[in-house]
Amino acid sequence: SGLTITQRVFQGLTERDRDAMIDGPTGRRVTAGELTDGTRALAGGLRERGIGPGHVVAIMLPNMPDYFACFHGTAWAGATITTVNPAYTAAELHHQLTDSGAEILITLPAFAETAIAGAENTAVREIFTLGEAPGATPLSALFGPPLAEQAPVDVVNDTLVLPYSSGTTGLPKGVMLTHRNLVANVDQANHARPIEPGEWTVGFLPFFHIYGMTVLMNLFLGSGGGVITMPRFDLEMFLKLIRDFRTKQVFVVPPVALALAKHPMVDQYDLSALRYVFSGAAPLGAPLSGAVEARLGVRCEQGYGMTELSPVSHLSAHDRGRAGAVGQTAPSTECRIVDPGTGQDLGAGQEGEVWVRGPQVMKGYLNNPAATEETLLPGGWLRTGDIAAFDKDGYLFIRDRLKELIKVKGFQVAPAEVEAELQSCPGVADAAVVGIPDEEAGELPVAFLVRAPGASVDAQAVGTHLAARLAHYKLPAAYHFVDAIPKSASGKILRRMLKAGLAG
Ligand code: ATP
Ligand code: MG
Repeated sequence: SGLTITQRVFQGLTERDRDAMIDGPTGRRVTAGELTDGTRALAGGLRERGIGPGHVVAIMLPNMPDYFACFHGTAWAGATITTVNPAYTAAELHHQLTDSGAEILITLPAFAETAIAGAENTAVREIFTLGEAPGATPLSALFGPPLAEQAPVDVVNDTLVLPYSSGTTGLPKGVMLTHRNLVANVDQANHARPIEPGEWTVGFLPFFHIYGMTVLMNLFLGSGGGVITMPRFDLEMFLKLIRDFRTKQVFVVPPVALALAKHPMVDQYDLSALRYVFSGAAPLGAPLSGAVEARLGVRCEQGYGMTELSPVSHLSAHDRGRAGAVGQTAPSTECRIVDPGTGQDLGAGQEGEVWVRGPQVMKGYLNNPAATEETLLPGGWLRTGDIAAFDKDGYLFIRDRLKELIKVKGFQVAPAEVEAELQSCPGVADAAVVGIPDEEAGELPVAFLVRAPGASVDAQAVGTHLAARLAHYKLPAAYHFVDAIPKSASGKILRRMLKAGLAG
């Protein structure tokens, strides 16, 4: 369809008096009418300041109901949004503001100092904060006379949003996504996993990252559902909100699945309404998803995607998940498994690089034509950089990133597979595996482990657990016990940080 993302999401907000968002920490309720009115008023205020097509607004906020009007008001004004991680330092913010060319920055009073420092020597003309802060304008001043209709935009070619990739493999990349990309992905996801009107979910996945932006804010609200926002992940608040709102499904990342499988606090909450735990963004092995299912009596199902895919290209339909698989190819999406060396297509059961084509594929990387050319191939195919295989029923099994495979004596070891077994080992709370150079073997896997509270598990016990489950060449050559595994805001293990720690 030719809708903008805001026109599409407004389809789920037609009952004006229905509660549509709730601020988790305070319980403040916001109706559908307040969301659409706020969107139009913010768009009006932006237009009064000359912000429209071709201009960029940066949003640096944690999840909260106010996020909606900032995001959709910018879209309604015809401008481009760039979403910023609120945990960023001034230097990180400065990089994104410069790269994106943002002229307006919206944030919280608590981040005003960082915002002012980060905005120095950039195109930012005015900083708005939700409340008073020295050097900033209160956001209330940006709500102007409502802009009744969507400002005209080209839904296929204009850049609507510039989220940044997670920075797992290097510096985060600005990804140019269009209205059509986001609308397509909302429709694709809703087709495979329909949201029930009036259904609530607890939303801690950050809206600044594409997973929370599409699945929570746009899919849920655009389907008549409601989102209870959490500004950051907090297990106790998460469990309490699931219990109190009798949430049917939650969207998580593997570290949260890990907590649901292992944390003692989980037993203290009545989660009997919960039926689906949906995980994406990073590998979740069969042992862990099985543990979540057994403990909570739910289906733990997966999806797969990336910022460049708005983000979903594969997902499990309700009750159709398969252990260890990320689901099937999304509607109106094509997928090929290609030998990365020869470019030949591979058949079911054969592992190769995942290539995707569909209406959710990005326009390209911002200010990075070389990366765009490497990733977006003629004919519209996107190279994901991930290695996977289909089974005969069309379920996709992701092995790991091509870049992260460890080459041991001619064998390829996927850290994700070893991590999955380590995470299921009694006494182990969390684990990560990296490859280190070795003269004889080429590379060797090395494990980092976090002990569960009170556990005394040692390298020998872990080695015995693994040896019963994995071929010998996959077994780590060393075990390091650490306090925590470094992870990104989107729940990914930062293996490059662990490697840097070993080298230093
Ligand atoms: P960067 O590109 O900046 O290094 P990133 O790739 O981690 O960071 P995202 O776009 O957030 O940034 O993540 C996409 C990647 O996440 C995919 O390429 C894939 O490696 C991984 N991923 C997503 N979902 C899954 C899943 N269900 N199982 C395994 N890996 C997944
Ligand atoms: Mg990536």
